[in-house]
Amino acid sequence: MKKDFLLSVIVPVYNEEGGIGSLMERLLPVVEQYKYEVIFVDDGSKDGTVADIKVYTEKNKHIKLISFVRNFSHQTALTCGYLHAQGDAVVSIDADLQDPPELIHEMILKWQEGYKVIYARRSARHESLFKTATADMFYRLINFLSDTEIPHNVGDFRLIDRDVVEMLNKLPEHARFLRGLVAWGGFSSAYVSFERKERVNGETHYPFKKMMGFALNGIVSFSSKPLRFATHVGFLCAVLGFVGIVYAISRRLFLPHEYWVTGWTTIFVSIMFFGGMQLIAIGIIGEYISRIYTELQNRPQFLVKEKVNI
Ligand code: UDP
Ligand code: MG
Repeated sequence: MKKDFLLSVIVPVYNEEGGIGSLMERLLPVVEQYKYEVIFVDDGSKDGTVADIKVYTEKNKHIKLISFVRNFSHQTALTCGYLHAQGDAVVSIDADLQDPPELIHEMILKWQEGYKVIYARRSARHESLFKTATADMFYRLINFLSDTEIPHNVGDFRLIDRDVVEMLNKLPEHARFLRGLVAWGGFSSAYVSFERKERVNGETHYPFKKMMGFALNGIVSFSSKPLRFATHVGFLCAVLGFVGIVYAISRRLFLPHEYWVTGWTTIFVSIMFFGGMQLIAIGIIGEYISRIYTELQNRPQFLVKEKVNI
């Protein structure tokens, strides 16, 4: 195995106090076999996470820290990590040991075979049924909607080559759905498998609401089919409406007047139906407009409070 390369490991952290020690106990023996840097991106933690990390940055220059002024998002923290990583191979890994650091060896072997993207695929997930079921639904939906094939059962634990990092760093998008962007690049890819365990320490930072936001962002970033769907439904409703109008007028013209006031049910049902359809269509359009709006504002993706060893 060729060992003359720099390995960067990016660890996004948000309120992971107490978990940093156990992470380092397993991560360090792995990375120390290479030339390495570990970049912690603190996503505005409010607990002792930063202090925990500084214990390591003080005695080891290869361990680096970038701190945000506030919580931005996991995807933003990763984006910032990619912008600062110098490595020839760059691994992103969660801080909670749900992604086993030992797998990095296997990823490097695959990378040295020439693949540019190495995904860690979850062969089994030891997580709540709710989490696995919603994740599965999400991947099915996004692959149904999107033209870019986004791999199933793959999270943000992956190794990417320098070329892929450069590609990502050049993309101007603000609301980043990195799994999609990496797949969109179309680089040669390979898989290594692992079993995803429960979190070692603390709780997930992806409660249902945040997960929905993440999923919606992924869909809006990678598909305009919902807009087309809105148009199709609108068109269908318009045709039905037209038929309804012809029917209503014919009744009025050709039936005796005792029949005229009947049909309240039809009116009520159709108003409800078309009203609902219109709201859905407007909502879908709104999602895309809000995307255009944030891109136009062109605000920085994150604000850095502090950098250590960088
Ligand atoms: N994380 C982050 N910012 C956030 C939420 C999470 O940087 O706003 C980090 C978190 O510290 C962890 C990783 O992203 O290292 C994955 O988060 P988590 O384990 O909570 O997600 P899950 O594994 O439940 O999907
Ligand atoms: Mg986790």
